[in-house]
Amino acid sequence: MKRYYFGIDVGGTKIAYGLFNEKNEIIDRHRVPSDKSLPGPLFFDSIASDIGMMLQRNSLTAADLSGIGIGMPSYILFDEGKILMTTNLTRIKDFAARDYLAGKLGVRVVIDNDSHTGAIAEHRFGAGRGFKHMIYCPVSTGTSAGIIINDHIFRGSYGFSGEAGHMLITPDEGVLCGCENKGCFMSHTSGSMIVRHIRQRIIAGDQTIMVELAGAPEKITAKHIEDAAKMGDALACWAIDHMAKYLAVWVYNMYSLLNINCFVFGGGLTKFGGMLFDPIRSYFDSYNHNDMPVYFKFAELGDDFGIIGAAQLLFED
Ligand SMILES: [Zn+2]
Repeated sequence: MKRYYFGIDVGGTKIAYGLFNEKNEIIDRHRVPSDKSLPGPLFFDSIASDIGMMLQRNSLTAADLSGIGIGMPSYILFDEGKILMTTNLTRIKDFAARDYLAGKLGVRVVIDNDSHTGAIAEHRFGAGRGFKHMIYCPVSTGTSAGIIINDHIFRGSYGFSGEAGHMLITPDEGVLCGCENKGCFMSHTSGSMIVRHIRQRIIAGDQTIMVELAGAPEKITAKHIEDAAKMGDALACWAIDHMAKYLAVWVYNMYSLLNINCFVFGGGLTKFGGMLFDPIRSYFDSYNHNDMPVYFKFAELGDDFGIIGAAQLLFED
C-alpha cells in the first residue's frame, strides 16, 4: 500500500528529511549536513541511501511510498524536473534530478525551488492561511519570494519565478552579488552582503563597536549588527536602516506589480524583529499612498516548514 511519503528540504548547509504517514503526520525525521563536494548524481545517491535507511528503520520499502517531494535552493526547470544551477551547492547543476531519483527508487518524485515550497507550506498551514494571493519572503543570507496566486504557486515560464532578491535597484553600483550583478536588492538587504557594506565603511574610516564585538572587521555577522544597534552604535543603526529601506522598496515594488496584499516574512533576519520590521513597515507606508490594507506577517511554521512544503508538492492539483 502506497500510504507513506517523504518531504525533503535541501539547504546549503543541511538536508532535512520527513517521513509522513497516511494521516499526514511526520513519523520520522533525519538531518544530515549537505556535502558541497558532491556533483548531482552522487548528491542524489546519498539522498536515495538516506531514504533507504529511513524506510528500513520504519519496516517499510519503496513500494509503500506514494511519492517524494524535494525543495532545493536551485534554479529548476520545473516541468522537466531538471536543476539548472544551485547557488550554494555549486556542483549540482544541469542535472535531471527528478528522473534520476525516480528511476533509482521506482517512486514518483517532484522537485521545486525552496522558496516555492516555503510559500506552499505557509499558505496552506501557516501565516498565509485564508489569503487567496500571498507572497512568502525568506530574508536571510538570501532574499527571494514565493508567489501564491489564486491559491496556487506561480512558477513562471521556466520555473524560477520569485528570484526577486536579484531585481536591480542600483545597477552597476555597490556590492557584487552571486547573481553576477552589482546593485540587486539582495546586495543591499541580505545578512552576508550588508556586512560587506559595513566593512567598506570601516575601511573608509567609520568607527564602530562591532569591530570589538566581533574581534575583527572580517568577523562581523548579523548578530553583531543587532547587538551593536541595541547599544546605539551609529554604523550598526545605519546598516539596519539601509536594510529596512531597501526591503521596504522591494516589498513596495512587488505590491505595485502584483497588488498582492499579504507578505509573509521568514528566514534568519526575522530574528531582528521590530528593530528591522518596524522601519520596513514605516518606509513601506511612506511610499504607499492609499488606505487599502497590506498585511505583513511572520512565518508561523517552525523548523518543519521546509519538509512540509516539499511534501505538499505531491498534493498539487
Ligand atoms: Zn543578486
